[in-house]
This record gives sequence, C-alpha cells and structure tokens, in this order.
Amino acid sequence: MLKLEDMAKKIEEFKNEKEIFLEHIQKAGLRRTAQRDLILEIFLRTEEHLTSEDLYWLVQKEDPSVGHTTVYRTLKLLTEAGLAREVRFGDNKTYYEHHYNHEHHDHIICTECGKVVEFFSPEIESMQDAVAHKFGFIPTHHSLRLWGVCEDCQHKANESHPTMASGAQPRVRVKTIAGN
Ligand SMILES: [Zn+2]
Ligand SMILES: [Zn+2]
Ligand SMILES: [Zn+2]
Repeated sequence: MLKLEDMAKKIEEFKNEKEIFLEHIQKAGLRRTAQRDLILEIFLRTEEHLTSEDLYWLVQKEDPSVGHTTVYRTLKLLTEAGLAREVRFGDNKTYYEHHYNHEHHDHIICTECGKVVEFFSPEIESMQDAVAHKFGFIPTHHSLRLWGVCEDCQHKANESHPTMASGAQPRVRVKTIAGN
C-alpha cells in the first residue's frame, strides 16, 4: 500500500507526461477516456521493453474491459506524442520503451534467453558521429543493437552441452529487463 505522500509523488511524477498526452490527443481530435488514462498510467509505471501484447496483459489485470486494439492504438498515440519509442530486437516484434525524459541508450540482446541490457558508451557515440561526418552526413539518430549470449546462458550452455553445436541458428525470444 502506497503512503499518501508517495502517492502524491507518483501523481506529480507523471504530471508532465499526462499533460503531453492530453495535448496530443486533443490535437488529434480525440477524447480523453478512462481507458486511455489507465493504459498511459500502466505504461509509465513499467520500466521495461514491452510489446502491445505485454501491455495488454498488464492492463487486463486492472480492467478486463480494455481491448487489445485500444492498447495498440494508445501505444501509437504515445509514440506520436514522444512519450514512447519503438524498438526492435530481431524477433519480428515491436517493443515500446519510455522516451520522454529518458537518456539515449543502445541495447545488447541475448540470443538464448532474450534478456535485453541497456548501455551507453560515449566512445561508440562519438565514433558513430565521426563515421557519419566522414561520409558527409549530418547524423540525426541511430539505433545500435548488439546480440550475444549472456553470462547466465553461457553457464547453462557449459553445464548441459560442453560443446555447442556449430551452425545452430540463434533463437531470439526477447524477455526484457531494464539494465542500469
Ligand atoms: Zn547510441
Ligand atoms: Zn541469456
Ligand atoms: Zn531500452
């Protein structure tokens, strides 16, 4: 149970996001609805990379009357409003993460368990800018993704299969964990 001052802090915390969203839906000629508010709230509370399906199940727990299409369309609105950002991790799914007030970061994805770690490397960032300039580009944005086998999966592989079959296709089943 949240204490009253914590609750007030929570409400305060998402104040800007809620204003941005309201402004955006009004501009789009849409109405503010309790369902959209709930979807926004749950999205903002969840510090993870979510598919619209994932978010749908979280919303379902609190209001089973919310349909999948509403969740999907609201995520699109959140993206247009700059509150959410789409990310892809190579498993043909679209994930959404927080965009507003979140520092730029890149991702490393485990091809075995789908764990996603967020990272930021000033060296890589400046090298990317240098490459863009070298080819006469003004860099605007980028998305860097690295794939590999996480430490947990390396241990598991060593325990069960001392030698990994070569030529095996990586299985990407993304399960996200927000890194630090
Ligand atoms: Zn980057
Ligand atoms: Zn793993
Ligand atoms: Zn991320």
